[in-house]
This record gives sequence, C-alpha cells and structure tokens, in this order.
Amino acid sequence: MSIQDIPVKKNDVVEVEFVDISHDGAGVAKVDGYTLFVPYGIPGETADVKVIKTKKGFGFGKLVNVKVESEDRNTPPCPIFYQCGGCQTQHITYDSQLRFKHKQVQDVMERIAKIDVPVHPVLGMEDPWRYRNKAQVPVGEENGKIVAGFYQQRSHQIIDMDQCLIQEQENDEVLRVVKEIAEKYGIRAYDERSHRGTLRHVVAKYGKQTDDIMVVIVTKNKDLPNRKNIINDITEKLPKVKSIVQNVNPKRTNVIFGDETRVLWGSPYIYDTIGDIKFAISARSFYQVNPDQTKVLYDQALEYAGLTGNETVIDAYCGIGTISLFLAQKAKQVYGVEIVPEAIEDAKRNAELNGITNAEFAVGEAENVIPAWKEQGIKPDVIVVDPPRKGCEESLLQTIIDMKPEKVVYVSCNPATLARDLRILEDGGFNTKEVQPVDMFPHTTHVECVAVLEL
Ligand code: SAH
Repeated sequence: MSIQDIPVKKNDVVEVEFVDISHDGAGVAKVDGYTLFVPYGIPGETADVKVIKTKKGFGFGKLVNVKVESEDRNTPPCPIFYQCGGCQTQHITYDSQLRFKHKQVQDVMERIAKIDVPVHPVLGMEDPWRYRNKAQVPVGEENGKIVAGFYQQRSHQIIDMDQCLIQEQENDEVLRVVKEIAEKYGIRAYDERSHRGTLRHVVAKYGKQTDDIMVVIVTKNKDLPNRKNIINDITEKLPKVKSIVQNVNPKRTNVIFGDETRVLWGSPYIYDTIGDIKFAISARSFYQVNPDQTKVLYDQALEYAGLTGNETVIDAYCGIGTISLFLAQKAKQVYGVEIVPEAIEDAKRNAELNGITNAEFAVGEAENVIPAWKEQGIKPDVIVVDPPRKGCEESLLQTIIDMKPEKVVYVSCNPATLARDLRILEDGGFNTKEVQPVDMFPHTTHVECVAVLEL
C-alpha cells in the first residue's frame, strides 16, 4: 500500500474487529485491508483503537475501549501486568493461550514449511503459575528508595515488584531480602546514566527438587562494605540458601554479568534434578527455567528418538548437556556439541555427577564439528538439534542430509525458523512425521516445539 492509500493516520480513533493474534501477542485488525497491530486486542473482539504509528505495510494502535469482549479475555492476576515487560498474555485465559500457540505452529507449518503435518495440541501446565526457577532482576532507586523489578516494555524504567506470579515464591523472597539489606546498610543502586552506585542486579536461583537457593549479587565494584553482616542477614532470613555469590561487573553495559565471580558464602553450586538426572547449577551456567515442562519436552524428544540401547546419537547445540544426558540413558553412545566452552565444562561435570560414561562433549560450532565427526567415521542413527532462535546453519542441515541418520529430532524455541529448516530437510529426503508444541513459558508469547523426521 502506498503512503497516500493508508486509510488511517496518527491519532485517529477507529473501530476495528480483531481477526488474529500476532506472534508477539498483539491483536491484528484490518482497516480497509491495512493491518494494525494492537497490544492486548483479542481475536473476535470489537474495539475502539487509537492509531499510534503508521508505516507503509502496517501500523500500530492502542486499545482505547473494548466494545465486544471475547470469552478468551481474562483479568490479569498480576497487578503490574500492564506496566511490566515480563509477561505478555495474562489478559488471555490460559486455555486460549494454548490454542493460539497451537494455531501459530500450524500456520508456520503450512505457510513456511509448506507441509501437511499433524501438530498436536500444546502440552500446557496444570498450574501455569510460579514456574520460573530463576529471577534476574535489575536494581535501581526511586525517590531514594531501592527498587527492583523488570523493565517496563520497550524502556529502561524499572517497575518495582513485590512478587512475580510466574516466579517460584523463593525467588520473590530473595529479592525482598536483598532490597531490605541494601536499605539497611545504605548500599546504593547502580545508576546506568551516571555509572555510579554499587548494586546492579540480583539473581535468584532455586532448585525445585532440592529446595536449594542461590543468591547472586552483581555489583559494580569488587569492594562490598558490610560483607560479613550481609552474609549473616541473608543466611538468617533465607534458611534454604546454600550459596551466596558476588559477581563484579565494572563495565558500562546492559550485559548483566562481569568476568569476575566469587563465592561469598557456601557452595559455588546448587543442585536440581530433571527426571533421573542431577544438575549442578553455578551462578553463570545456563539451566532450563521451567524444569517441569523441560521434563515434558525432553521425554517427548526421547520418545521421538525411539532409542533401544544400540544407537549412536548426536546432540547438536547441547548446552550443558541436558538432552544428551537424557538420551545417554537409552543410547549406546551420545556426542554433544556446543559453542560455549563453560557449558561444555558443565556438561562434562554433569555426566560425571550422574555416572554417565557414554556421553562425549566437544566445544565448537555444530556446523564445523559435525562434518569433522563425519570424516572420522561417526555414523549417527539419530541426530537431535536444539538451536537458538535463529535456527540451524544451512550448512549443518546439509551435513545432516549427507549423514543420512534414520531420524532427526528437532527441538525448537522459534516455530518460524523450525518451519524454514524443516522445509530444507524435507527437500533433502526427510519426512516430518509430527510436531509437538510444549508450553515452557506460560503467559509469554514463547512456544517450544519438538518435531520428528524420518529418512
Ligand atoms: N539443548 C540445551 C540448550 C539449547 S539452547 C538445553 O536443553 O539445555 C541453544 C544452545 O546452542 C546454546 O547453548 C548456545 O550457546 C548454543 N549455540 C549457538 N550457536 C551454536 C553453534 N553454531 N554451534 C553449537 N552451539 C551453538
């Protein structure tokens, strides 16, 4: 549509009907064929919308007044939902969130992968609250008082929070206690504009199966006045704490962690288990944030792999070896590859911790390491991939096609790149059998999928 033909202009208020929901949770409306994205609009609703911005292909609006409400609309239980940028879809009932996610996956299979494949209903949580085991929260000051909470959407303004309904209660406690302690000892919050102050972030980690808590405080400087008192107060107020860690980040950056980490008290690790596998979690190591649904996802991946005990399996993008160790219980040999060296150290440690001896790990890019394995004569029966949002490198997909494993199990956190990559594998001789979406992050727009392909 050319600029002159756009049927609305900034500040117009128009009545629209929402016909769809976008991948980031906004309502999609059409005004004379022109698309408007409107946060918090729900398909089936009629509403007055104020036009905020118009671009050539589409525009953005703000919900002014809902005239016909959808049955899918929900009163968000969190009082700061509309300010905080942490969740996006609490205004939609949980059942409908799952339905919308299902449709989103079906759509990309049709539109991008161009395949007719069964997409199963999303496996959701029975109780979709209090599921996150890690809180990573910036600290600031407002009128001289310490505040901590997530950033407002599209801004760097901290929305102070007393509790977060998608976090384990233990993590709320950690935040509350650290804020109290900062007030008590006059520790100033770091201010990103002036690059002054001390306390930058609080990170709370919780092992759901072990009941262990880790407290990480990220400070600008190494020096931490009242260190002994702070430790005493934390251990007294949080009896489940097993580890208190300080990370020092002196840089002018949005990156949370600096290079220096030291244990102030207790162990450098806490532990958790998923299924029968135990994991050591350090201040900086990656660990899945929703362990219950991780189990659901990996059980599905394991079922799709269909292992009998004789198979050689490659786990590409293995992180700390979570999937590899799951697979190793049922396979002859597992090879994991991951680009982050520290994650591979964790993977090796976790293998040892569980007495798993049939998993080997390598540091490097999957697209470089796996062809080298092929040269060495490694012949996988199953290849599992779990890439980041951008999906697999095309050269890796080509290597997979050349290696001809019987099965590929594709775990994905981005349906669009999953669909793109499935198309490539299909063209290379694989057939996508089924796709199972799993809701790892209720009340957000993220959806994980696991797909199985056969040669
Ligand atoms: N399977 C793991 C983590 C998957 S997240 C788990 O379930 O815990 C994706 C991982 O891919 C990240 O750990 C990231 O560091 C890694 N990664 C990103 N690009 C990569 C590449 N080109 N080669 C190998 N690993 C890569």
